[in-house]
Amino acid sequence: MTGPRRHTTDEMQDHDHDHDHDHDHSHFDEMELRVRALRSVLVAKGHVDPAALDVLIDTYERQVGPRNGARVVARAWADPAFKAWLLRDATAAIASMGYQGRQGEHMVVLENTPQRHHLVVCTLCSCYPWPVLGLPPTWYKSAPYRSRAVRDPAGVLAEFGLSLPPGTQIHVADSTAEVRYLVLPMRPAGTEGLDEEQLADLVTRDSMIGTGLPRQPCAPGRSPAFVPQPAGRRAFP
Ligand code: FE
Repeated sequence: MTGPRRHTTDEMQDHDHDHDHDHDHSHFDEMELRVRALRSVLVAKGHVDPAALDVLIDTYERQVGPRNGARVVARAWADPAFKAWLLRDATAAIASMGYQGRQGEHMVVLENTPQRHHLVVCTLCSCYPWPVLGLPPTWYKSAPYRSRAVRDPAGVLAEFGLSLPPGTQIHVADSTAEVRYLVLPMRPAGTEGLDEEQLADLVTRDSMIGTGLPRQPCAPGRSPAFVPQPAGRRAFP
């Protein structure tokens, strides 16, 4: 079986060329195309109600999102007992905050340290912890991210604008249908006086996937409460 042609690094770095020619630049990867085709058939045959699907999608797009994960991280930063529980039994600790359900049944939290940085990918498809992060970003599902995160994790992080101190080991965690990962980023320095909600403001979605770091807090009294992160280069479609 042959899948869609994967983009080379050069193609990812230069996407400004004319798209009149005939090659595979679909915004959907093979898995997404299959899912769409399957959905069309199921709806056409009356096995699936499109309105029910819309409710499901709306739930995960609007009501569930990375703010849930940010609150989990903030609590772990603020409460050592909760952090220990989170690292021991993430599914139960996260459920205690009300975040559970589909795609979150078997959670594992990976703690970043000065020595070790975790990066989450799903090389097979797009497994992602929905209850704490919502729906995955498009780049997470893209073939270039999925293949290169394993082959060249430092290069991938560099394209997200993230360079780690020399000597930091990068561990790539490959999600499966059985296990979903959430990265517990390191708590930024200078956040001692912040409460959980203020801490949660510092936690970005990407910092919980491992493609980013938490925001840095501003000096007290300054607005906004945190320093915006550089956007980083997004080479992934
Ligand atoms: Fe997957």
